[in-house]
Amino acid sequence: MHDRQHMAGRLQGKVAIVTGSARGIGAAIAALFAQHGAHVIENANVTEVLLELTSTDSLPRAKGVVVQKNAQQTTNNKPQTISAKVVIDATGTSALLAKKLNLKNPDPKLRKASLFAQYKGASRDPNPRDTGATLVLSTKDQDGWFWYIPLPDDIVSVGVVGDIDRLITSRNGNPEKTLNEEIQNCPSLIPRLKNATLIPPIHVLSDFSYSSKRCAGEGWILIGDAFGFLDPMYSSGVFLALKSAEMAADAVIEAFQKNDFSAPQLSKWGQPLSDGMQSLRKLVYAFYTKDFSFGRFTREHPQTKKNLVDLLIGNVFRPGINDIFDPMSKSVPLPNSIPLESPPIPQSA
Ligand SMILES: Cc1cc2nc3c(=O)[nH]c(=O)nc-3n(C[C@H](O)[C@H](O)[C@H](O)COP(=O)(O)OP(=O)(O)OC[C@H]3O[C@@H](n4cnc5c(N)ncnc54)[C@H](O)[C@@H]3O)c2cc1C
Repeated sequence: MHDRQHMAGRLQGKVAIVTGSARGIGAAIAALFAQHGAHVIENANVTEVLLELTSTDSLPRAKGVVVQKNAQQTTNNKPQTISAKVVIDATGTSALLAKKLNLKNPDPKLRKASLFAQYKGASRDPNPRDTGATLVLSTKDQDGWFWYIPLPDDIVSVGVVGDIDRLITSRNGNPEKTLNEEIQNCPSLIPRLKNATLIPPIHVLSDFSYSSKRCAGEGWILIGDAFGFLDPMYSSGVFLALKSAEMAADAVIEAFQKNDFSAPQLSKWGQPLSDGMQSLRKLVYAFYTKDFSFGRFTREHPQTKKNLVDLLIGNVFRPGINDIFDPMSKSVPLPNSIPLESPPIPQSA
């Protein structure tokens, strides 16, 4: 694909680097930006965020990025420097800036791993439980769980999640063998995959639950998985990625209106988003607590049902939503919230 540059529009003269523009939401964003006149750079990697020290924050200020086209897509893949008032890191779990600035806080109690792959020809439920309807299937001893996500083109995404020690450390380093053993360990999955063919590769992820100490600094913001990732259990990843992008966008628009690209301005959205994530994190802890049952909990505390449903559908910012955790804390060792660090408030002149 070539860089896209179309007719004049609201983004005339602007450069957009769209991460993940090969398909799906990313491709649609790239097309829309180009339609509005932006010069859209695709098939490229941001290799560096340009940073400089600042006297107003302990973390550096971002001034732009270095981007390099994928060598297979172009003959001209010379690194290109692009200046920007705000660099928004949306690099997913690559977490370019959070890693560089050492901002990642792993969740000490959620030390999980996952092995996953796609299968062709796996059994599918009739509509409406077909495409996109995620199934959660428990392993025999309830020491792990599988997701089973039917996708278009007769593909199903299958992945197991369990403790790192059980899935990685105590195994022989052969992901295909481990995944097959785990499938045999999940009685409800075996018939579903009877006629299915594995489409390599098998992906292995571990220690994927983390949050960043800060959501922004001078001239930079972290959104989506680049800011934090909880656990795949409640499929909250896409929701939180989109929500953080929406909330951060408001802070960026205001930053341009006020010509204020300071850390406090760009961090404005972070605390509410982080509070919502911490509520979902408590539900994740409840799920992994042995002998805890959401069914039994809501039967014993029927008043909590509405809050539970709201949390699961992403209505995590509603006042009173956290009332559910008072009764839950009697049967689940719920974690303390991981605080989001506030940036220093600049001294007024
Ligand atoms: C197997 C699996 C199943 C999942 N299932 C679900 C689900 O059912 N529901 C759900 O809500 N969530 C699910 N998630 C989580 C969800 O995919 C993520 O939370 C969500 O995609 C985060 O969006 P994002 O835009 O922050 O990051 P991503 O979707 O990861 O997008 C980041 C993009 O940035 C690109 N990139 C990275 N580094 C650079 C760089 N240096 N330069 C340029 N581009 C770069 C990457 O290639 C990628 O395309 C799943 C995750 C996995 C791994």
